[in-house]
Amino acid sequence: MNDHTQLVVIGGGPGGYAAAFLAADLGMKVTLVNPEPNPGGVCLYRGCIPSKALLHVAKLISETRQAEKWGVQFGEPRIDLPKLRAWKEDVVQKLTGGLGMLTRQRKITYLQGYARFLDAHRLAVDLTNGNKKELTFEYAIIATGSRPAWIPGFPPPDERIMDSTAALELKDIPEKLLVVGGGYIGLELGSVYAALGSRVTVVEMLPGLLPGADRDLVRYLEKQLQRTFEAILLNTRVVQLKSTGKSVKVKLEGEKVTEKEQVFDRVLISVGRKPNSRGFGLENTRISVNEKGFIETDIQRRTAEPHIFAIGDVAGEPMLAHKASAEGRVAVEAIAGKKAAFEPAAIPAVVFTDPELAWAGLTETQAREEGIPVEVTRFPWAASGRALTLDQPEGLTKLVIDSRNERILGVGIVGSGAGELISEGALAIEMASLASDLKWTIHPHPTLSETLMEAAEMFFGQSTHVFRPKRK
Ligand code: FAD
Repeated sequence: MNDHTQLVVIGGGPGGYAAAFLAADLGMKVTLVNPEPNPGGVCLYRGCIPSKALLHVAKLISETRQAEKWGVQFGEPRIDLPKLRAWKEDVVQKLTGGLGMLTRQRKITYLQGYARFLDAHRLAVDLTNGNKKELTFEYAIIATGSRPAWIPGFPPPDERIMDSTAALELKDIPEKLLVVGGGYIGLELGSVYAALGSRVTVVEMLPGLLPGADRDLVRYLEKQLQRTFEAILLNTRVVQLKSTGKSVKVKLEGEKVTEKEQVFDRVLISVGRKPNSRGFGLENTRISVNEKGFIETDIQRRTAEPHIFAIGDVAGEPMLAHKASAEGRVAVEAIAGKKAAFEPAAIPAVVFTDPELAWAGLTETQAREEGIPVEVTRFPWAASGRALTLDQPEGLTKLVIDSRNERILGVGIVGSGAGELISEGALAIEMASLASDLKWTIHPHPTLSETLMEAAEMFFGQSTHVFRPKRK
């Protein structure tokens, strides 16, 4: 006899497991199918978590290097690579093990394997132990995530040419590393290797790093990264890669390229991610996929099959863990018959470099493109007491405010801890806060969070620590 479940969730990343957990909490009979022994997905096994563990160490190293100017000397750090790898793995194991326990506590049936649609009501599951299972379901949520994109015509990954997953394995510390792609993954992983001692070159074919973020924020980060990396080559393409076994020969094309042929010990290709929407039988359903490979859904994340939902990286941009989880919760609430919709005013994005860069809601660039009348205030961290005590004066907090009604539409921050600070901005945007709400909210002193309050004060020309009277 076939197994039957009320809800099957395909994929156990931050979208899938958040959805499965909420559905179980709401009393549904849930089956979660995922190839790893525990849930976690890309985020926990080979994305957010291992990269942030390594970035923590990178920041520590760079702080010890700065400490000399504060009168403290630590000497050159000695890197014990196996120990560093083991620590990173331990973090991953603890978190994924915890998710496994939460799955069992919620009495979710966990099938370790791959699911494939036989039709819109039946799945075949190839279990990793070699067995096969068939499953019928009332509802399904597809949360199969994404994988690293590759440059067409380039040789496949090997010992020297890595994708982000291989880079996180930290096999060695190459003397010279080339990072292809100036998006957040390339910059974060490049920063890790640079802190550990690699000479890192970043190549980006666009005129700037981090497309999508406002240029004034990126400028602060770029200035710091110019010191971290050996070179940042913008408007530059890698036209050829040849792995020789011991090194990689690279041909570059770009306006500022002085040496067209260069040799690197390793190359990291980080040119974006592709949704996992093929190879598991979507063609046996009416579910449609757009030209970018994302599954098409409505505002509740319902596909063309009304009882099947799609969430997370496979369902569209931005490909971020917290967006996946939020969509998962909306889909489950929709299944539970609640009036749910995925229509956030702000999905925060964080680049965990040093300094961090984060934004939420409308960017200044988007506001200009869409003709939304906005006033932008910028509070420089050089005027923040807390920033100076941290020796982090090179930061900026900006607010994008609707000039018609003083509503906060967007927040951007570059500086230490921007990733934590941005949540206040996201809350302000979601709560439809006005600049005066933020201005009148008493913030603790001395903290970096005060920069948000003072940026709001600037809207009225009344920032305590910046003299910039409002133009009449
Ligand atoms: P995934 O996490 O991709 O999980 C999908 C799961 O489905 C996988 O376990 C996969 O094996 C499984 N699966 C696929 N096909 C099937 C099938 N047929 N049957 C069963 N299971 C299947 N995001 C952030 O928000 N913050 C960060 O700091 C961040 N850092 C990142 C760093 C790196 C290096 C990378 C690569 C990504 C990072 N991301 C970050 C992105 C984040 O990892 C993804 O947005 C997030 O994991 C997407 O979640 P998901 O649930 O959609 O899918």
